[in-house]
Formats: sequence, structure tokens, C-alpha cells
Amino acid sequence: VCCSGAGSVVFKSRAGVLVVRDGGIWMGGELVDWREAKVHVLSHALHYASSVFEGERAYNGKIFKSREHNERLFKSAEALDMPMPISLEELEAAKQETLKKSGLEDAYVRVVVWRGSGEDMGVASAANPVRVAIAIWPWGAYYGDAKMQGAKLDIAEWKRPSPETIPVHAKAAGLYMICTISKHKAEAKGCSDALFMDYRGYVAEATGANIFFVKDGEVHTPTPDCFLNGITRQTVIGMLKDKGINVNERHIMPEELESFQQSWLTGPAAELTPVGQIGDYHLQVRALTRRIAHDYEQLVRVISFRNIRDAPAPAELKHRPPPSCHHPLPQGRAGPRAGAAPH
Ligand code: PMP
Repeated sequence: VCCSGAGSVVFKSRAGVLVVRDGGIWMGGELVDWREAKVHVLSHALHYASSVFEGERAYNGKIFKSREHNERLFKSAEALDMPMPISLEELEAAKQETLKKSGLEDAYVRVVVWRGSGEDMGVASAANPVRVAIAIWPWGAYYGDAKMQGAKLDIAEWKRPSPETIPVHAKAAGLYMICTISKHKAEAKGCSDALFMDYRGYVAEATGANIFFVKDGEVHTPTPDCFLNGITRQTVIGMLKDKGINVNERHIMPEELESFQQSWLTGPAAELTPVGQIGDYHLQVRALTRRIAHDYEQLVRVISFRNIRDAPAPAELKHRPPPSCHHPLPQGRAGPRAGAAPH
């Protein structure tokens, strides 16, 4: 706890995220005090990862691409056989109400849908209610200083799984198990995040963001055939194409990383964060990365229809070579993982 006052407590987490424990969390139709927004310990989701969610950002009081996030949430719930207890319109209204009541203009929006507690404590959970909550809090740069200097990425030991293994396009809690393990390992090595290869050995994505590369003025990004085709990713691809820049969506081999000159990550939390290092390879934060980061910042604020002329110019991005993550890059295509876990 870094400070507290009448009715509010502000936490500063290890990652530097300020969580204002004040105001309401929307739960099942009403705004509940932040401290009272509780779930039962026998919630099915806690035991079996029966949970889907969205992460979004509001700029100038307007949620960016809210409809797209709502639609993905409904698809994710369907993939996990969880009937949504509210309509798309009700969800949108609830998000707007929670944002308005929060009093925040720029904020992170987390919607979570999960199987609650009930008769079923086994794997099947059709008898347990599906519940929805919306929490909104201020969240600065997800990668901290990396937004300016370029993030350092470790190479994850786990692989993004095959679409035959799990519903890979659902934004579902279970898919984040390997993300948390990999990000912990990366942070312990002084990196900001980890980059996954997929089950075939192709470059995939980071633990909570998609990845782009620049080579000789063209952009390359992995085909999202076994991970989220990010809403931010699609926005950025549209921006690049509008500028007449070639975007190659394709399978990328890890050996190619050495040949890329620039790279960045995209996602609602990451926004557009430059990458300065992947494994032992160094990348530069150069003009195209700076321009797209700047234009993305402008876009999310233009779309909010307000205060665009007051939008602050992004600080100059500087490249400083970060220290090594000391992790060898995988060579060649990885075969199917044989039996034992790679740890
Ligand atoms: N991949 C993963 C694993 C993520 O968690 C996210 C953030 N939701 C993304 C990609 C980016 O997706 P989007 O821009 O659609 O939110």
C-alpha cells in the first residue's frame, strides 16, 4: 500500500501498476464496492479455468474498439460452452456505466466471464451459473520504460499450442497458464516479456501481445493461425496498409529474427511498444516504429472524438541497447514435444 484515505486504498504493485481500490466493480447487474466484489472459493473457474475475458483501453472517456472486444468475448464464451447471461447491448451499457462511475477518462477495462459455484464441482459445469464482472482501473505503460527504449524479450520454453489441442482463438484463462510461467521466467532474467514459438516452431506472439517486424521497409508479422488475431494487430495492419507499407502476414522461422531491423508489440495493454532485443538479437527503435507508435496514439485519441488537438506528442523514443537475456534462440522447427515438459 503506498497511500490510503477516506474510502480508498492505492496499491503499487511490483510491475508499477497502480490499482485504485475505490469505486465500483460491475457484477451481475449492479455496481458493487471494489472490496465487496467477491467470488466463492468453489467457483468452477478457479478449479478448471472456465473463464474468458477481455482487456481494453478507454481514451478520453471512450472505449477503443469496444464492439470488437464484446464480439470476441461472446465468441470466446461460446467456444467454452458458456451461455452469456447478458446481451451484447447490455454488456456495452454495463461497460459504459462502470467507466462513467469510475470517473476515469484514460483507463484499462477488464471484462471477465466465468463459471461460478453451484452443483457441479466436477469437470462438467452446465449446472453452475455463468457470471460477468467489469473492473476499470488506471493502467500506465504495460512494459514501463520499454515503451521508450524497446522491450527485451526472452524466448519462452513453452510453445503456443495447436488449434487441434485447444480453442486457440478464444481469449480464455487456460491459454494464459504458459504465459504467466514464461513471463515470470523472463522477468527473472531482467526481460520485459517472453516471445513464444508455436507448436510447429514458427515465431508466434508474446505472452499478452502480438508481434511485428521490419525488414528493408516492409513489415512482417506471424499468421495468427494458432493464437489471437489481435484487434490492435488488425488496427495496426490497417494503418500500415493505408500508408502504402507492405505487410507480409506469414509463417516466420526463428532463424529469421537475426535479419529483422525493427520490431514492436501490439495489444490493448502494450498499445504499441517497441522491441529492443529478442534473445541475443538486438533491434533498433527507428523511424517506422516511432511513426506507427505515434500514429496509433493519435488514432486511439481521434477515435475518441475529443481532445485530439490537446493530445500530447509522444516523447522521443530512444534506442539504448539493453543487457542480454542470456537465452539461446531455438534452432529450426521444433518437433512435437516428446512426453516430458521442457522444464
Ligand atoms: N495475444 C495475447 C496472448 C493477448 O493476451 C493479447 C491481448 N489481449 C493479444 C495477443 C492482443 O490482442 P488484442 O489486441 O486483440 O487485445
